[in-house]
Amino acid sequence: MQHVAERTGGLSVRCQGLVHLYKTFEGHDVVALQGVDLSVAAGERVAFLGPSGSGKSTLLTLFGGIQRPSAGKIFLGEEEISRMSERQLTRVRASRVSTMLQGATRNLLHYATARQNLRFSRAASGDPDRTLGDAELLRRVGLEKNGDQVVSSMSGGERQRLALACSVTSAPQLLLADEPTSQLSHEDRDHMLELIHGLGNDFGTTILVVTHQPEVAGTFPRTVIMRGGRIGMEGRAGAEYVVVGAEGVVHLPAHIARDWPQGTLVRIEPEHDDRLLLSRGDDDEDEAGETA
Ligand code: ADP
Ligand code: MG
Repeated sequence: MQHVAERTGGLSVRCQGLVHLYKTFEGHDVVALQGVDLSVAAGERVAFLGPSGSGKSTLLTLFGGIQRPSAGKIFLGEEEISRMSERQLTRVRASRVSTMLQGATRNLLHYATARQNLRFSRAASGDPDRTLGDAELLRRVGLEKNGDQVVSSMSGGERQRLALACSVTSAPQLLLADEPTSQLSHEDRDHMLELIHGLGNDFGTTILVVTHQPEVAGTFPRTVIMRGGRIGMEGRAGAEYVVVGAEGVVHLPAHIARDWPQGTLVRIEPEHDDRLLLSRGDDDEDEAGETA
């Protein structure tokens, strides 16, 4: 246990101009990410939200070194993983970064027991000593009674909890979890969040989580909202932020966009250097106001 704290601590994540294309069977390109810039400090915890297809899973797999970006740079700490050889990437994946893919079953061996899955993850991480023991991990995810149960006989929620336990056997410096609570009851979800945040509290792990659940996102100090392969908006400490995109484009928060539909004329008045006042102004109304 003791060397865990010594060996870990968070890893910062930074990307610049990240673009990712998928080739479909028909030979078309699907643009999953179109120029993402993001910086996450060591030890920071971020929740990613956004509609299905907005590029959240793609972003996570690129950060985890599971896929390579079509263009752009990714830095984990000081190291640029987008330029690493396959061998170097394997080392990073094994020892410093852990990715829990969307859909718990993709992370597990079906015909093996919970404990065998943990052992396998440990062996893959190359350094079996530096992490929590099986019993402690099973306890933290509420599976203390399921150690000898075969994965194929577990419920969706149990598999999801085991997948998380497996993904932290290496005491990673960066944990990437794609919808880790999607199949859990409220109570299990809270346990899962405790485990995830516990890693941050105990080891300073940097944690990036994709979720559709506002209750989950609400436990993270920073939220990033993806939209159409870009970062649409950011929230910190309850306030909403938008990120200026190409050619100065900004997206309105969804609840404002509903009331201010496409084509609405927006008046921009600088108040001072760092502050603009936006108001829905159409010329007619103004003139009416002046003449009245
Ligand atoms: P999210 O996780 O936000 O739902 P994804 O990163 O999974 O978004 O997908 C982003 C876009 O890339 C979507 O348009 C999706 O259809 C497409 N996509 C994802 N994976 C593949 C793939 N393996 N082949 C082709 N297109 C893909
Ligand atoms: Mg996804």
